[in-house]
Amino acid sequence: MTPRHQKGPGPDDPIGTLKGVGRNRAELFEVAGLRTIRDLLEQLPVRYEDRRRSKTISSLHGNEPPLNITGTIVSAKLKTSPRKRMQVFEAVLDDGTGSIVLVWFNQPWLADQIKRGMTIRAYGIPKTSSYGRLQLDSPDWAEAERDLDEAGRVVPVYPTNGAVTPRVMKSIMRQALEALPSFTDPLDEAMRQRLELLELRRALFEIHCPERYADDLALGRRTPAHNRLIFDEFLGFQLALRARRERIDGDGKPRSIAIDESVRAAVREALPFPLTAAQKRVLKEIADDLTTPRPMYRLLQGDVGSGKTIVSLVAALLVIRNGHQAAFLAPTEILAQQHYERAAKLLGSSVRIGRLTGQTSRAERESILAGIGSGKIQLLFGTHALLEDPVRFGSLGLVIIDEQQRFGVEQRRRLFEKGDQPDVLVMTATPIPRSMAIALFGDLDLSVIDEMPPGRKPIRTFVRGSSRLQKIYQFIGSELDRGARAYVVYPLIDQSEALKARALNEELRELEAAFPGRRIGTLHGRMSGEEKTETMRRFACGEIELLVATSIIEVGIDVPEATVMLIVDAERFGMAQLHQLRGRVGRGERDSYCVVTRDERSSEEVKARLRLFAETGDGFELALRDLEIRGTGDLLGTRQSGLPRFRFGDPLKDHDLMEKARSVAAAMVREVGLEQAERLSRDLLRGEVGDVPGRD
Ligand code: ADP
Ligand code: MG
Repeated sequence: MTPRHQKGPGPDDPIGTLKGVGRNRAELFEVAGLRTIRDLLEQLPVRYEDRRRSKTISSLHGNEPPLNITGTIVSAKLKTSPRKRMQVFEAVLDDGTGSIVLVWFNQPWLADQIKRGMTIRAYGIPKTSSYGRLQLDSPDWAEAERDLDEAGRVVPVYPTNGAVTPRVMKSIMRQALEALPSFTDPLDEAMRQRLELLELRRALFEIHCPERYADDLALGRRTPAHNRLIFDEFLGFQLALRARRERIDGDGKPRSIAIDESVRAAVREALPFPLTAAQKRVLKEIADDLTTPRPMYRLLQGDVGSGKTIVSLVAALLVIRNGHQAAFLAPTEILAQQHYERAAKLLGSSVRIGRLTGQTSRAERESILAGIGSGKIQLLFGTHALLEDPVRFGSLGLVIIDEQQRFGVEQRRRLFEKGDQPDVLVMTATPIPRSMAIALFGDLDLSVIDEMPPGRKPIRTFVRGSSRLQKIYQFIGSELDRGARAYVVYPLIDQSEALKARALNEELRELEAAFPGRRIGTLHGRMSGEEKTETMRRFACGEIELLVATSIIEVGIDVPEATVMLIVDAERFGMAQLHQLRGRVGRGERDSYCVVTRDERSSEEVKARLRLFAETGDGFELALRDLEIRGTGDLLGTRQSGLPRFRFGDPLKDHDLMEKARSVAAAMVREVGLEQAERLSRDLLRGEVGDVPGRD
C-alpha cells in the first residue's frame, strides 16, 4: 500500500482511488478481474488505430481508409427501424464543405450525448449508402473541445473486460498513467542497458500513449515497449524454470554410466542396420547426457518414420548395461505391444524385457511388479498402467516417453517420480519450435533427427472428392492384387447426428461389397485390448489385407508391407494427424500411396489445407506452413499439454526474446545464486508463476 504522505496513487492502490471512479465503477472493474492500478496499466491495447488522417467531407472519394472528420451536428434523431425492431441513431455532421450521416445501431443513449449544435470529431470508414448518401457507420467519436487530442495520433483500442467497455478503459487509462512515477523497475539500470531494454515506466507509458512508434503500432508490430513487457514475463518464467531445475538436479544423479568397449559391443550386436548420420549424432548427444552427473531432460524430435525408437532403445541398453532399469511409456496398447515385440527381437537375448498394460492379467501383473521391484526385469514397456502406484522399480535409470504430446504434465511427472533423478528422454514427431517446447515442457534440451533412413520412397499423396470413392476402391483392389496391404481410415466409429461424416460401421458393408473375398479387419477404440492386439498381429503377418480403422492407428504403427492409406473425410482431421496417418505407409521398399477424400463442397480453406498436405511430404515443413495458416493452438493441443498462459508474449512469435531470456536466466542463476534468482522471478511475474512445467 502507498503511504499516505506520498503524492498521487501508487501501482498497488485500488482502482477506486482514481478520480472519477466511484464505488459502482470500481466494482465493475473488480468483477472484470482488474483491482489495482497496475492491473489497469497491464491491460494492453488489442490494437491501435491510426487517426493521423483527417479530411474534409468534400474531398472524400471512393475507397478511403479510416479517417477523422470534424464538424458540427446539424440534426440528430433516434428512429426505430420497423422491420428489424432495431434502434437507429442518426446524426448529420457538417464541416462547411459538405455533410455526412453518422449512424449507430442499438445505442439509444447516444441521443442524450450527441446534440444539435455540438462540434464533434468522428472517426471511421466513409461509405456511400445504397441511397447514394455519404455515411459513417458506428464511428468512434469525441466532442471536439473535450477530445483527448486523438486526432493526429495513433490511438490504443482496449479489449472489452466484462462490463468495462473499451471506451471506459481508454478514458481511465489517462489517470492510471499518473501513477507511473511510483512504479519501481525490477531490472536495474545496468542490466537494462546491457540488454537494451526500455525502462519499465517508459515502456508502459509508450504502450498507452504511443507516439514514437506510430507506424509499427498501426501495423500491429511489436515495439521496444512491448518487448520490454514480454521480456520481463519470459525472464521471470525462465528464471523459475532454471532455478527449479537446479534445485531438482541437486548434486546430480546417484549413478554413473560408463560406456566402455563391452557396452559398445553390446550396442553393435543389437543394431540390425547402420544408423543414419542424424541418428548417430543424436545418440551421441544422449550418451553425453547419460554419462554426466546432471540428469538428462531431452526432447527428441524427428519426423514420422525417422527412426526415433531405435535410438531410444540404444539409450536404454546403455543404462541397462550399467546395471539400471529403463521404462518406456507409450500412448496406446497397440504401440506398447509393438515396441515390446520389436525390442524383444532386437535385445531379447541380452536384456530381460517386460510389458505392462491395462490388458495384462492379474497373475502376470503380480510377477511383473515383483520383477521390476527386484531388478529382474530390465526394460519395461507399457501404457498408463506404468504410472500406477504399485509400480516400483529397483533402480530406474532412464524414462522414455514416446509420442509425448499424448501425455499431460501430471502423467509425465508421475513416471519421473518412480526413479531417483532418472534420465528422461521424451520423443515426438510433432515439430515444436524450441521456444514453444521450453514453454511446454520446461528447460529441456533438444535433439532433432532430420534425415530419413535410406531407401525410403516418397509417399505419393492425392486429394479427391468423395464421389470418387468407387474409383479409389478399384485402385486399392489392384494394389492388393499385387500383394500390398492397405488402411482405410474413418473419422468416426458410428454415424452421429451432430457430425456429418462417414463412419466406420456404416461404411463397412460398402467396403465388403467393393472388396469381395478380401480379408478385411477392423480396428477402433471400442474394441478390447486383446482384440486390438490380435487384429494388429493378423494385419502385420498378412492374414488381414485391408484394415479398416479410426485414427487409433495414427501413432507408431509400423507394418512395412502396408503401402496404401485411404483417409475418408480428411477435413475432419488436423494436419498433424493426417501426417501421422500418412506415416503408416512408405515404410518399406514398395511405392506407397496416400489418398485422402473430402466433401465435394469443401470450403476453399479446406481445399487449400489438403493441397498443402498433398504437396508437402516433410512433416516439419508441413507443420510450420500449417502454423502460418492456422496459428499455434491446433498443432499442439496446448490446453492438455499444460502450456502456461503468457499475458504479453507469444512463445512462437517472440521466440527470439524467449531465447534471450533463457540465456540471461542461466547466467543470472550462476551469478547471483538460486535464492536471488527466484526472488527476481517472483518480482517479474509478481508471484504468478503458475504451473511451471519441467522434469520433476
Ligand atoms: P519413428 O521415428 O516414427 O518412431 P521408427 O523408430 O518407428 O520411427 O522407425 C521407422 C522404421 O524405420 C522402423 O521400421 C525402423 O526399424 C526403421 N529404421 C529406423 N532406423 C533405420 C535405419 N538407420 N536404417 C534402416 N531402417 C531404419
Ligand atoms: Mg515412433
